[in-house]
Amino acid sequence: MPKATTCKLNDRTIDITEALALRARKRDIVFRCAKCGEHVRAHKKGTTEQAAHFEHLSANPRCPLSGR
Ligand SMILES: [Zn+2]
Repeated sequence: MPKATTCKLNDRTIDITEALALRARKRDIVFRCAKCGEHVRAHKKGTTEQAAHFEHLSANPRCPLSGR
């Protein structure tokens, strides 16, 4: 499963590192999927092998970056 590591903020493409830094300062930022434009949420690197990534708030079956 491909994991999204970039997203759109307004009309700019930013990566997960920048997104997490921005969110730390301002929690209500809305990030959008770079492919489909749906809302995505930034996830920090997990305790398992999981790298930091974006996840769709609701799965989009037509988006290659949407899990499940
Ligand atoms: Zn998407």
